[in-house]
Amino acid sequence: MTDPLSNPVSKIYGIGEAAEKKLNKIGLFTVYDLLNFFPRKYEDWSDMTDLFALNEGELITFKATVKSISPINRYDKLQKCVVVVGDGYGMISLTFFHGRYIASEMKVGDEYYFRGVVSVFRGGYMLINPQRIRADKMSEGLIRPVYRQTAGITSKQIEAWIGFALRDYEKYIENILPSKLIKDKDLCSGKEAYRFVHKPSAMSQVSIGRTRLVYEELVLYEYGMRKSFSGISGSGKAFRIVKDDRAQKTVKNIVDSLPFKLTDDQKKALRDIFNDISKDRPMNRLIQGDVGSGKTAVAAVAMAAVASTGKQAALLAPTGVLAKQHFDTVSEMFKDTDIKAVYLHGGMKASEKKIALEKIKTGEAKIIIGTHSIIRREVRFLNLALFVTDEQQRFGVEQRNEKLSLSFVNSDVDSVHSLVMSATPIPRTLAMVVYGDMDISIIRQKPAGRKEIKTTCFSDKNGIYKHISTLAKRGEQAYIVAPRIDDNDEGDEIERYENVFEIGEEKIETQSVKGILAEVSSSPILKGLKADHLVGSMTDAQKTKVMERFISKETDILISTTVVEVGVNNPNATTMVIMDADRFGLSTLHQLRGRVGRGDKQSYCILQSNSKNELSMARLKMMCQSNDGFELAEKDLSLRGPGDFFGTRQHGLPNFKVVNVFDDAEKSVEVRDIMQDVMTAEDDESRRLISVIERQFSLRYPNVEVFRA
Ligand code: ADP
Ligand code: MG
Repeated sequence: MTDPLSNPVSKIYGIGEAAEKKLNKIGLFTVYDLLNFFPRKYEDWSDMTDLFALNEGELITFKATVKSISPINRYDKLQKCVVVVGDGYGMISLTFFHGRYIASEMKVGDEYYFRGVVSVFRGGYMLINPQRIRADKMSEGLIRPVYRQTAGITSKQIEAWIGFALRDYEKYIENILPSKLIKDKDLCSGKEAYRFVHKPSAMSQVSIGRTRLVYEELVLYEYGMRKSFSGISGSGKAFRIVKDDRAQKTVKNIVDSLPFKLTDDQKKALRDIFNDISKDRPMNRLIQGDVGSGKTAVAAVAMAAVASTGKQAALLAPTGVLAKQHFDTVSEMFKDTDIKAVYLHGGMKASEKKIALEKIKTGEAKIIIGTHSIIRREVRFLNLALFVTDEQQRFGVEQRNEKLSLSFVNSDVDSVHSLVMSATPIPRTLAMVVYGDMDISIIRQKPAGRKEIKTTCFSDKNGIYKHISTLAKRGEQAYIVAPRIDDNDEGDEIERYENVFEIGEEKIETQSVKGILAEVSSSPILKGLKADHLVGSMTDAQKTKVMERFISKETDILISTTVVEVGVNNPNATTMVIMDADRFGLSTLHQLRGRVGRGDKQSYCILQSNSKNELSMARLKMMCQSNDGFELAEKDLSLRGPGDFFGTRQHGLPNFKVVNVFDDAEKSVEVRDIMQDVMTAEDDESRRLISVIERQFSLRYPNVEVFRA
């Protein structure tokens, strides 16, 4: 039976085709999605005034009856409609501009709640365009939820739809929390929680409901973590990698043949890894290091170590471009050894793919590199021992549209050692929430001889173009990043959901990739230079072409959205320009900056912004002063409080709806322990709970098939 909560939103009373389209546009497809679209704030209408002794400029809330509605003068451009209301203590007139709809909605004698700021006009009091709620539609307790208004949907509409959704579907909300937790924490029920958060009758209910929902969200997340990436290692046995003399020698040769010396931090990370994989308990380790700190080099050596003992190692990259780059790097490293690597990707011919799959199955291929292609069911590994995930912030349980699984030919083991590489500098407390119980190795040192990237803030674009042109004369290339693809695009950084209880929403026209492309192509300053563009909606093959042209210096300027932020390597690109830099989280800016400074030439990062906002500017200034991602993360936290380092997108963090990664760190630890118990226990309650959690997990993350669930 399919879960009624997975019904399309159009099944909800009041939601027609047009409304469904709009809801889909903001990522709300099912009843479950809608119920989990939480208010971004609340208005308290309970503090009411009588229409008596009013003060100009005062925000008032009151209940009153409609006394008269003036007809609209048809010569009036503003279509002014004046409604007079009274409450027994006094009367006040309400002016609605463009108020043609008012006459059809309001009737004399109707009772309403109104809210607005008092103004004085010709000696009388009035409100201009006040908010209004019909008395019979008013929420109990007079607490008004405010939903994010977007895509042509108003907060009131969402409120009404959620009301109907609760009415008809509340009974299908199942409990996913262990009874012990509910009792220990004195939590309300799941059903109550949704009601409390959407239709509170007092603010205290909101926090009671929220607490319950935080635990629920953490349980689902923890479940996903255990079942997916960090849990890729599973709880079974993995291959013990014990290096014999020959293997030892191969690894030493590879390390010696590197064109550089490993930093101490890289060596330390490798020691951690070798130590872990020499046991049959699966490794579950995260390497955190700034862009360019040499994580890939570490992973490659670890894979070499595994391969040299005859076992397989796989590397999963987030994009085709990146996978290809890793494949090239690794092939170069292994060229004097007998270790064979294969590259699996979506664009392969069927015949090529068949050969590659065969090599993986027979074990001829020891190193397997690719995108999601490598975790499709058709890929059968002979003796996979190590699984490396690059830039894991791109995956996580948020990954949509992918069915992931690992299958093994060999049945002696049922787990692999898992190594995850992340460039998102996450302070310890956060790492606890996000990465759970993974062991962490941090690479903080920069490889020797790196030139610091010079970062500056600039508003004048011609100055920036002059800089690009000067460097281009020396044969150096530049990236330009803009927040949007074209004028119709809402932008990468504009979140689909906002975290509950967070306020603040501004929409400013920002520059677009297409706009900049046109500007650059016609700018006399940049005459003779070739520009190209790269955006997320291109196919992998198109992206690869664009990147190849850029790397082979056919193009001088690559204009792009933040898609370039992930691991693309062109040492000849020395300038990174970020347009409307204030629109991005510091973490994103720092990642983008990491695209340059990859060779031995002096590199530049130019943050373009027209913002007058002091905080925005202070943040950009911090970027100019520090090149250390961890330091930036910590500083930004202290400056703006939690949440902002990651921008609205919570870059690199899971897309939590109620959990606040700072405030709820402790709860996440509790949930981790509890889930450890629940997921290993054999009793009936635990089993039942897991099956409900699994169902809800697939409602929350509909396109994720968790690993060997
Ligand atoms: P990350 O994956 O952490 O962003 P990479 O491993 O891709 O970093 O390394 C970035 C660049 O630095 C690569 O060109 C790599 O060859 C080089 N590199 C890695 N380690 C060192 C080192 N110890 N000394 C000098 N260069 C290094
Ligand atoms: Mg990398």
